[in-house]
Amino acid sequence: MSMYSLHECPPVTPERMEELHAKYLRERDRRIKKDFNDQYVPADGKWKDIYEVDPYTPVAPREPITGETDVVILGAGYCGMMVAIQLKKAGISNFYNVDHGGNFGGTWYWNRYPGIQCDNDSLVYMPLLEETDYMPSKKFADGYEIHDHCQKIADTFELRDNALFHTLINSLVWDEKLSRWHVGTNRGDDIKARFVVLAMGPLNKPKLPGIPGINDFKGKIFHTARWDYDYTGGEWRNPALTKLADKKVAIIGTGATAVQVVPYLAKHAGQTYVIQRTPSTIDLRNNQPIDPDWYKSQKPGWQQERIANFHHAAMERLAPKEPDLVVDIWTEISRNVNAELEAEGWPDISPEEFVKRRTLWDYRVMERLRDRCNVVKDPATAEALKPYYRYLCKRPASNDDFYPAFNQDNVTLIDVAETQGVERLTEKGFVHNGVEYEIDCLILASGYEVTNDLDRRWGIDTIQGANGLSIYDYWRDGYQTFQGMTANNFPNMFFTGFTQAAANASNSKTFVDQGFHIGYIASEALKRGAVRVEPSAGAQDAYIKHLRSIAVDNSEYTNECTPSYFNNEGDTKKKRSIFGEPWGEGYYAFEAMLKKWRDEGELKGLTLTTAQEVEPAE
Ligand code: NDP
Repeated sequence: MSMYSLHECPPVTPERMEELHAKYLRERDRRIKKDFNDQYVPADGKWKDIYEVDPYTPVAPREPITGETDVVILGAGYCGMMVAIQLKKAGISNFYNVDHGGNFGGTWYWNRYPGIQCDNDSLVYMPLLEETDYMPSKKFADGYEIHDHCQKIADTFELRDNALFHTLINSLVWDEKLSRWHVGTNRGDDIKARFVVLAMGPLNKPKLPGIPGINDFKGKIFHTARWDYDYTGGEWRNPALTKLADKKVAIIGTGATAVQVVPYLAKHAGQTYVIQRTPSTIDLRNNQPIDPDWYKSQKPGWQQERIANFHHAAMERLAPKEPDLVVDIWTEISRNVNAELEAEGWPDISPEEFVKRRTLWDYRVMERLRDRCNVVKDPATAEALKPYYRYLCKRPASNDDFYPAFNQDNVTLIDVAETQGVERLTEKGFVHNGVEYEIDCLILASGYEVTNDLDRRWGIDTIQGANGLSIYDYWRDGYQTFQGMTANNFPNMFFTGFTQAAANASNSKTFVDQGFHIGYIASEALKRGAVRVEPSAGAQDAYIKHLRSIAVDNSEYTNECTPSYFNNEGDTKKKRSIFGEPWGEGYYAFEAMLKKWRDEGELKGLTLTTAQEVEPAE
């Protein structure tokens, strides 16, 4: 009996593959906008409230803080929390988690739209399940459950006393004399921090679609990252949107967020227009409760094992005979390749042959996913919903109610691919193919500033390192880091996420590991009496040179994708990718390299400076 459940997909002949490939390129070409990332409108000026205002928790007044601390962690979402926990484990407890939101959770604090769930296996995605003794209720947990689990993490690891909520950092300036960072905020703080960790995650700042006339629309408008339940009715934990019953609503976008929202609009709104530029891939969700008996039977260490297995299947390669523990859309291609190899008696195949097989399965899986659209009765709508691109060009989604919604009379698909977006907004609604559609409410599911220039994406006016150097200038042509986490000229500053490090298929795993590494460096620096730690220019250059020598070039794949934040909206000249410059040998090889570096105990490549060296005694 097979150890893999092969997912049936239509066969794809070489001729069909060629035909599809040509169509993929046509679908890409007709969508690429000349202004790429710049098409989007930032959430500032007239739109600043979309980003700045917290609709969920009242802001409590407080006095500005001007004292000293060991560490300021920018962020109290998954990343900020994981860093905080690791700092504590490394013996540093004098820090602040500074966050714009009113509680822990980051994206899971802000995003409360109806239908919100994680799209990844909860058992992989939700961090520290063993440490917090927590069993997620189902395979894809609801947003509020993840938010609540964040609170549990904060309580378990006693993070609350260190939190500074409703505080937006707007400047970080290195003070050479003090050997500290001045952390300036919108609350008038000037905190002098020994170290700063940037832990804002990739999806911190919403962006608006660039539509002519966006300032003209007079109806209700909000972004999914700040859902307005006062307007729609219902609430986060019970999203019965009763106040929309007599409303005409349009939602812009059909990305991972909109796919979750649309079924709720279809159920409650008088009329829903789903404005789609590029369709998502939407598999069956089949969201099942977690079996408590199975959960209890797991041996210590099970979560790390599952995370590694998911990472292999989703981003690298399932080893021969390695089981697929997660079994969902994210792992389907790997699973099917292995099922095939198993049936052939595990032949020893070359890397080229592996890529060939993966590619074929990519086309086959996409055919299967396109077939799913045929549940929509209107053939033109069904066709417009079909995604024509390689499987990982957009984030894969799963939902059982999205396609059936288009069989309802009150739901209309507005396909704006041909006009590269919504033609125009007016005072009363939107224009499509020369027809004005009047609406009461426009919901923006238009995503985040993930790949825009860093100053726009981070929203921090000033980040000034040694000799007044701005990080935005320093990194204008790409990241320059040592191990992805420190940078020459930016002493005592740590970076997280997709820089020049390695990406795990589970972000939360990356954040735990980066927090550990940062905790190690910061605590070692303190133990060794250093007030300043920074990679030398030589070590940084050598690191980058090596990183580039082992880089894997995926540009052919990404350049052939329809535009999105995954490929800088099709801007092939832009150097910074959403994934940064990942370690080409893979995530666990990167982790092994860091471990070896730590085990050597020399902090090789970093320059440590003591207080005496900064200001020699007279
Ligand atoms: P995306 O950036 O993925 O999608 C934005 C949508 O807006 C796209 O469909 C885009 O179309 C559309 N759009 C933008 N401008 C226009 C325009 N002018 N006219 C018409 N349409 C327009 O944002 P999401 O919020 O959906 O998702 C962002 C990320 O959030 C995901 O990739 C994922 O990482 C995360 N997420 C995670 C979830 C989870 O389960 N953990 C759930 C939901 C989101 P086009 O594609 O053509 O650009």
